[in-house]
Parts: sequence; C-alpha cells; structure tokens
Amino acid sequence: MNISEILNKQSQFFDSEKTRNSSYLKALLKALRDEIVNREEDIYNALYKDFKKSKFETFLSEIGIVLSELDLAIKHIHKWSKPKRVKPSMLNFPSTDYIYSEPYGTVLIIGPWNYPFQLALAPAIAAITAGNTVVIKPSELTPNTSKLVEEILIKVFQKEHITVVQGGVQETTELLAQKWDYIFFTGSVPVGKIVAKAAAQHMTPVTLELGGKNPCIIDETVNLKLVARRLVWGKFVNAGQTCIAPDYLLVKTEIKTSLINHLIKEIENAYTENPEDSSDYPRIINSKNLERLTRMLSDSKIAYGGNINKADNYLSPTLIDEPSLDSDVMKDEIFGPILPILTYSNEADLKTIISCYEKPLAFYVFSKNKRFAKKLMSQYCFGGGTINDTMIHFGNHRLPFGGVGESGIGAYHGRLGFDTFTHQKAVIIKGNWLDIPMRYAPYKNKITQLKSMFKWLS
Ligand code: NAD
Repeated sequence: MNISEILNKQSQFFDSEKTRNSSYLKALLKALRDEIVNREEDIYNALYKDFKKSKFETFLSEIGIVLSELDLAIKHIHKWSKPKRVKPSMLNFPSTDYIYSEPYGTVLIIGPWNYPFQLALAPAIAAITAGNTVVIKPSELTPNTSKLVEEILIKVFQKEHITVVQGGVQETTELLAQKWDYIFFTGSVPVGKIVAKAAAQHMTPVTLELGGKNPCIIDETVNLKLVARRLVWGKFVNAGQTCIAPDYLLVKTEIKTSLINHLIKEIENAYTENPEDSSDYPRIINSKNLERLTRMLSDSKIAYGGNINKADNYLSPTLIDEPSLDSDVMKDEIFGPILPILTYSNEADLKTIISCYEKPLAFYVFSKNKRFAKKLMSQYCFGGGTINDTMIHFGNHRLPFGGVGESGIGAYHGRLGFDTFTHQKAVIIKGNWLDIPMRYAPYKNKITQLKSMFKWLS
C-alpha cells in the first residue's frame, strides 16, 4: 500500500465511527498491554542490539513508561471520552454547557531514535485513546526496535487503525506531503521546522517535542556527593542521549574542583573505571553521531574521560573543564555523554550565559537556598525543570511534558496526552422553557439593563 492509500483507508475507518466507541478502544489497549508484556524479552534484545541499552534502563525509560501510559488510559478512557459538563453562563440562561473531546481524525507520529520504543508508542497510545487513527514513522536509526514496534502493533490493531511506515528522510518527506488532521513530531529543531512548514500547508495542528541546551546551576550550599550522584545518573543514563539531560553545568566558582572530583568518583561507582566493560553503559547510536561528539572534544580541555572506541561507537563519560562559549561543545545541543563544567560568580553571570541560547527544554538548579532556586525557576523560560535533581519531572504523568520556543510546541503525558489529540468542542443545549427577551431588538433603552447584568455577572 502506498502512503495515500494508507491515509484513505484510515480516513474511511475513522469515518465509520468505530474509533468513537470507548469500549472497543479499551479492549484494544488491553490487548496491546498483553502483547507488550509477552514481548518483554524481545524488547530488551532489540534495544540491546540497537545501542547496547541495559535491561534496567530499557524497563525504566521505555517499557515501564509505556505500560503506565496504557494503564492510565485503560482506567480512564470512558471518563475522558465523555462530554464534560461545565458551569453555564447566566448570560445564556437557561442552558446546559459541555466540552466535547473530539478526535482530530488521522494522526501522523514521527519518532526519534533515542527512546525509540517509548517515544513511538506513548504518543500513539494517547492518540488511539482519544479516538484517532495513527500512522507511526519510527526512527530508521534503531531498526530492531522500530521493526518490533511494528510487529507488536500488527498483532493488535487493524492496519486501518494503526500502521507503521518504516524509513528515513524520503519516507518522512512523503508522509509530510499528505494532509493529516494532526502531526506529532519528536526530534531535532531543524527537522521540527521542516515538519511545521509542511503542516502549515494544510493548517494541520502540531505538537513538536524538540531539544536544546539544558542548563544546570549548582551553588555553594549543596551536598556535593549527593549532587554528583544525581548528576551522573541524569547525564549518563542512555549515554547522555536524552533530550532532558543536563547539557552543561554552571557551578559556583569555589566548588568547581571539588565537584569534579565527586563526579569522577560517582562515574566510577556507577560504571567502574572502564565503562566500556560495564553492561549498564550504552553506546552512541551510530558512527555519524560519534564523529559529531568527537569533534566537540577537539578544542576542549578534558578533565576526565574522552575515551573512544570507534569500532563499537563507544564514548566514555566525559567531563570538560571550563570550555569557552564559542567552543564546539557549547555551540549546539550535545546529546551525548559529554558534560561541560562552566563557572559563575553571581546571578548576572548566569544570565549572560543562559541568554546565549534558545529557551531550553529542561532547566535544573541544585541549591539548599530555596528562595534562590525558586527565583531562577520563575525567572527563566523553559519547558520543564527540577530543583535538586534532574529529569524526574518527566516521571509524573500529571505534569505536562513539552518545550517552549525552539524546544517545542505543545505538551503531553497522561490526561494531557488525551487532550493533545482531541479538539475541545464547545456545545450548549439551550432550554426552551424560558426565553428572556432582553437580547432581542428593538433594543430601545435596554442598554442600561444590559450593563447592570454584565456588572452583576462579573
Ligand atoms: P531527527 O530530527 O534527526 O529525527 C527525528 C525523525 O525525523 C526521524 O524519524 C527521522 O527519520 C526524521 N527525519 C530526519 N531528517 C528528516 C528530514 N530532513 N525530513 C523529514 N524527516 C526527517 O532527531 P533524532 O536524531 O532522531 O533525535 C534527536 C533529537 O530529538 C535531539 O535534538 C533531541 O533533543 C530531540 N528529542 C526530543 C525529545 C522531546 O521529547 N522533546 C525526545 C527525544 C529526542
């Protein structure tokens, strides 16, 4: 089937209104859950083959998150799908007012390679729960996981409901040329701009989950051992290939040396002195990305790490001491296991450095000074963040996950994912038992009455 045939079939399926039946969808979501649980070992194997991701990280950041999204959707689908009654306005008295959550129709989901299972399936679960049909284009850089995602979905869904289209730039370009009712993209800023342009041709609404340079500020009040432990986890999970990993540190000048020593200790505690032999430390996704990261090291002072094995796309956890802002490592999002450590003396320094970059996806502050930490959280514009840890704001489905400015448009997770994939339609049922004549012409001097009514309502 070519792409326009797939889309036609999905439109017909959507028009049949089968996807408006929440009991039918709930049964499919349950079947998907069972299939994922049945294929658990295959999922571990696929991610290991793609970039040596450990079982623990695969469960934590891929399977576990997808299962939680499924559980939530299964539990709430009936409630979420029902029209929600809201308080009416006295201006319309008598009336009963509702918000209908209406599925958009045909949805295109484009996924990245860094969490290839979760970032293809979590948005798809939200889109299906909301009553849409879905085409997923997973990443071509994780062929084993992308193939498995397709196998799992084929087992559960009719093709008219969900289809996976495999491929790279050419296939995505063909998909983007079609008229979709919604496009959900996770990936880089440059490709996000391509997606936004293509969507604009058809006035298609989009969610863009992008990236950026996420700052992490550490002041002198902290417990350095604890901070180092949390930073090593947040930065080197998935070998730093995480959109919300701290990109660079901004450390109060007097604690820099001590923090570096603690970071080294914690890296070795987590992955031993030779992380290449640790079964917990993944690889860089491909040689192109390894070369990109290697170039970032060329004009920097390496404080620790920097070991490379090209044959295995391996780059060890690496610390960079005080890179200049025009060095390669500080130009673009790093998206790998390299952590630049910059210093600051006062809040003006922070502003000078952070303002060099677009609005980040994530923002972190480590400090025992709550006033200082909260002030920074309000002062800067970013997608989401955490005080005294990294990345954990992702884990609460009650919090919106998304960027702002160049780090993205829109948000999802949990109920917000359902809302993302539905149009919120206002519907009023007007009562016939009373017809207040004030709004009808001739208006004569009714404006005085009208003004007092607005005053009374406000
Ligand atoms: P990418 O933009 O290169 O690729 C994403 C998808 O777009 C892939 O499916 C790919 O096939 C497709 N694509 C690539 N080039 C294209 C083109 N020219 N035209 C049309 N389609 C194209 O991103 P990636 O390398 O897979 O992922 C890394 C980026 O994703 C990082 O910037 C990271 O911050 C971001 N990211 C963001 C989130 C988030 O939730 N905000 C999550 C993960 C990754």
